[in-house]
Amino acid sequence: MSYVDEVYKYVVEKNPAQPEFHQAVKEVLESLRVVIEANEDEYRKSAFLERLVTPERQILFRVPWVDDKGQVQVNNGFRVQFNSAIGPYKGGLRFHPSVNLGIIKFLGFEQVFKNSLTGLPIGGGKGGSDFDPKGKSDREVMAFCQSFMTELYRHIGADTDVPAGDIGVGGREIGYLYGQYKRIKDVYEGVLTGKGLTYGGSLARTEATGYGLLYLTQEMLKCNGIDIKGKTVVVSGSGNVAIYAIQKAQQMGAKVVTCCDSTGWIYDPEGIDVALLKEVKEVKRARLTEYAAKRSSAQYHEGKGVWTVKCDIALPCATQNELDLEDAKTLVKNGVIAVCEGANMPTTLDATKYFQENKVFFVCGKASNAGGVATSALEMSQNSERLSWTFEEVDSKLQNIMINIFHNLDDAAKKYGVEGNYVAGANIAGFLKVADAMKAQGIV
Ligand code: NDP
Repeated sequence: MSYVDEVYKYVVEKNPAQPEFHQAVKEVLESLRVVIEANEDEYRKSAFLERLVTPERQILFRVPWVDDKGQVQVNNGFRVQFNSAIGPYKGGLRFHPSVNLGIIKFLGFEQVFKNSLTGLPIGGGKGGSDFDPKGKSDREVMAFCQSFMTELYRHIGADTDVPAGDIGVGGREIGYLYGQYKRIKDVYEGVLTGKGLTYGGSLARTEATGYGLLYLTQEMLKCNGIDIKGKTVVVSGSGNVAIYAIQKAQQMGAKVVTCCDSTGWIYDPEGIDVALLKEVKEVKRARLTEYAAKRSSAQYHEGKGVWTVKCDIALPCATQNELDLEDAKTLVKNGVIAVCEGANMPTTLDATKYFQENKVFFVCGKASNAGGVATSALEMSQNSERLSWTFEEVDSKLQNIMINIFHNLDDAAKKYGVEGNYVAGANIAGFLKVADAMKAQGIV
């Protein structure tokens, strides 16, 4: 059996009931086969892949808090510090009822390669809780965040591990988490990113993941002789990533006709009204029915359905495995040209393969959504310098980073004989830097 296959078997055996983690590892290992098999004995002898797929540290903790009725609630907290070969652990916190150790591990594993691709000195980690902020009062969210940080604080630090937001963790949650960290540690340091602008946040961090997704998509299309202007775009999600992806796509002259949340989806043939979407989602924290109620051109549908809409470009920006093989077949039948992931692992492995076989340009999230963590790293630099850069300065660095990511993965794919396979290119390019640093640092 090849070393790559042995290690995949090892991962499944050692991490039972963690299908998302298995899926993320499978995608990466398949891409790395060409690199590993060129030097298989050396990699096997140093148990290199076993070390790569095993987190350096996994922290699991209890998070008790009191709800508005005086009832004590208990949630599970997680922080997985996956790999620090190239810098301090860096990766978001997700608060969602579906969170479990396997999901955090898949996200942490992906983060290692994504962070490497940015070209910045950041290692990979991820954390979160099965707490659901939806429907909770601000006081309940604060009580939860304070309890969560009362345990987490001892494991993180500006030079150790720097969490950020993810699903369910936006500016409000980061503020409460930061306040509690500062209160316990009595230091004012850049221990979290995605902070508010009045206490160390970076301009353009809110926009970064969505904007970055479009910068990379535009560059990829341009290199393939296609102009994004005038194209019809289908977006899923209506959170942080989706909103700013829609905004930037429109600024580039494309027309975005859908968005969704976990209960339903919008088809708006006139183009999504971003200001209204922001009002509904960022201010009122309401459902998309409110968007439809205020916009006569919009149709609201219950359940899942954005991938049935005819489009040139599809941008999945909601959650993992939201785009499956049937969706991929529908998109291809409807003439989709490109699919770029805004979310982490939103496309199933068989759907990815189907896109690639049907010559759809496909870029995986660890490359196309890396703008968020890249800008988080820029926030860390500003915090260390005790300076704030202008929006234009950050945005222009973000653009350069995303353009470089695309060229690095494109070059890696060409170099290793898989031209046009941007998934393999991203995994190989991300891996090579981490591998080099791990080898240099010995068996640690
Ligand atoms: P948000 O919490 O801001 O938004 C998530 C959006 O996805 C919401 O509209 C949510 O709807 C929707 N959603 C969640 N689950 C489902 C589902 N099962 N079906 C349909 N819609 C769903 O999160 P973000 O925008 O920050 O994150 C979105 C994705 O992007 C995640 O995969 C995240 O890991 C990834 N990402 C985020 C980065 C960031 O900087 N924020 C950086 C890189 C990646 P509802 O409100 O109903 O739950």
